[in-house]
Amino acid sequence: MLLGELPGEVSERFKETVLKTVDGKLSVGSNPTLSAKMSKEAMSEVLGIDLGGTAIKAGRFSVSPNQAQATPQEYVTVPTPSPATPEAVLEALIITAEKLDPGGNLPVGIGVPGVVDPTARIARTAINLSNWHEVPLAESMEKRTERTVVLGNDANCAGLGEAWLGAGRGFQDLLVLTLGTGVGGTIILNGRLFVGHRGAGAELGHICINEEGPPCNCGSRGCLEQYISATAIHRRTGVDPKVLGEKADGGDPEALAWWERIGSDLGVGLTSLLYTLTPEAVVVGGGVAASSAHFFPKALEEVEKRVLFPCREGFQLLSAQLGNEAGTVGAARLVLDLT
Ligand SMILES: [Zn+2]
Repeated sequence: MLLGELPGEVSERFKETVLKTVDGKLSVGSNPTLSAKMSKEAMSEVLGIDLGGTAIKAGRFSVSPNQAQATPQEYVTVPTPSPATPEAVLEALIITAEKLDPGGNLPVGIGVPGVVDPTARIARTAINLSNWHEVPLAESMEKRTERTVVLGNDANCAGLGEAWLGAGRGFQDLLVLTLGTGVGGTIILNGRLFVGHRGAGAELGHICINEEGPPCNCGSRGCLEQYISATAIHRRTGVDPKVLGEKADGGDPEALAWWERIGSDLGVGLTSLLYTLTPEAVVVGGGVAASSAHFFPKALEEVEKRVLFPCREGFQLLSAQLGNEAGTVGAARLVLDLT
């Protein structure tokens, strides 16, 4: 139920990564001098919670005064109640926050698996949770605790986490694509999360790359996620992306050709995104990104072929770094941005 330690190799890297801001520019790496100067009193703390269908993952973070540096202090994971009704989940969230901050009033950001209203107060829908419709989660939790609560879409939180402490740190205009069951998207503009007019923006997985392509759950056809999500890769190749990656690692020509195809499809999607937003970088996360070496080169080749130079000048395609912690980190960042 409880685990103080972060799992996995990515987390180890994350724990060692301390962010610094020097003259307004972010850089990465340990900097003992700067860290020593930063007294514990000067650090504020926030909680980030990633509410998932099976687990509630949460962390407490110390944040530097300029908010550019943050250090995870403790992580906990509790099972999501079943059935995950709003009432049961609210109780679990209150208990989770209490575990990380006993008797305290640290503010909390919560990533919800669905659409959140633009004021970050109401969970309008939630996938894999029971009977979630226009749930005033922030208000309900604030009434029961001394905490300020803000909500965000979980995919947006994961992207925000990567933007803050992961592969996207230091970029002002950044997109994150998370390749999983679907393709999650995050847009960071001028260093801020962009959620659109009604809070449901950044559905980057549903940009169309083939008008006659496979039907998508959204109602359209040929969406990017029908080509490069983990589900789509499995459907197209007959094997799990992890297996496809292992085959490619071993030099299997068919697997390598598939990854090139996937890279090319990603490149076509990136073309639309670059022409629309000209981000400095796109970060690709999710399990599929483990094979980035096999499909990034083709994606970049496609971008070079299709995108006018001024729209791709200096563009970087990067693999995500925070793994499963990204959502928790981003939920914590949400508190700083919205309170
Ligand atoms: Zn779609």
